[in-house]
Amino acid sequence: MSRKRVLITGAAGFLGSHLCDRFIAEDFHVIGMDNLITGDLRNIEHLFKLDNFEFYHHDVSKFVHVPGELDYILHFASPASPIDYLKIPIQTLKVGSLGTHNLLGLARAKNARMLIASTSEVYGDPNINPQPESYWGNVNPVGPRGVYDEAKRFQEAITMAYHTFHGLETRIVRIFNTYGPRMRLNDGRVLPAFIGQALRGEDLTVFGDGSQTRSFCYVDDLIEGIYRLLFSDYAYPVNIGNPDEITIKQFGEEIIKLTGTKQKLVLRDLPVDDPKQRRPDITKAQELLGWEPKVTRAEGLKITYTYFKSLSPEMLSNVAHKNFETYNK
Ligand code: UDP
Repeated sequence: MSRKRVLITGAAGFLGSHLCDRFIAEDFHVIGMDNLITGDLRNIEHLFKLDNFEFYHHDVSKFVHVPGELDYILHFASPASPIDYLKIPIQTLKVGSLGTHNLLGLARAKNARMLIASTSEVYGDPNINPQPESYWGNVNPVGPRGVYDEAKRFQEAITMAYHTFHGLETRIVRIFNTYGPRMRLNDGRVLPAFIGQALRGEDLTVFGDGSQTRSFCYVDDLIEGIYRLLFSDYAYPVNIGNPDEITIKQFGEEIIKLTGTKQKLVLRDLPVDDPKQRRPDITKAQELLGWEPKVTRAEGLKITYTYFKSLSPEMLSNVAHKNFETYNK
């Protein structure tokens, strides 16, 4: 029997590359696509020798062509950290809106099922905790995070419209903070920031007073949840994340302990519109998918720290950004 064919956008990124690995392990034919603004080919170079893996260097905000049949499309291309949105706001808006539209068109043409990567950012700075899927959010459309949050909200809306009006098979995952190997060291996210600082012998920068909370999910758990959602028959959004909530200050203390660094926590200004609390209500995922996270933060952080320690000193010190400006139009 011939292999099922899946297109994964953002394939060279953190989540995209782990998805490629999972679908290869499940014996799919995987077509990866990435424009490599924030992605890194080193995340998928081990797949290039396989005959059931192909890669296209392409920006999905432009018309997308893929020869042959497609059974599934997973749209994971997007800048995904506050620092990235500030550097490449237009690209962030385009990949969530125009990119999603192009891929929905491709899904229709190929009669493929489409899963989109949405985010807990659709809840903005939430007024309720934990956040269930039924919560509509508290988003500032014109703040620094607006380019990401509103693109993702539009993405959900257009995906639902294609489902309702064209009968397209669609799935929407709302992803909460996730961590693990292959996160970009310079993306400004709190985990690579803290671990990178510890490894370079710098103090750990806590934004605000560190009382804001997040709930961190290990990447393998997230990928399992996405895999189950794709093969479920549920078209409405589903939260996937780990409800184990922690303040950023406590998180910093955990990283100090884990790395054994002699450095300390130092306080810095809180970025504009930084959510005060975030924790997924995962009742729906538990009931619909029989899914819940299995990896504790202690276990996941250990694996992630081992990965970051294995990076070359050159990669560790490279906190500069790539040539984002050329794409920002
Ligand atoms: N944060 C921090 N120090 C850093 C980077 C981030 O204290 O060096 C904080 C940030 O203000 C936020 C939390 O850590 O409250 C998580 O930030 P991240 O960018 O990882 O994700 P998001 O805000 O999108 O959840």
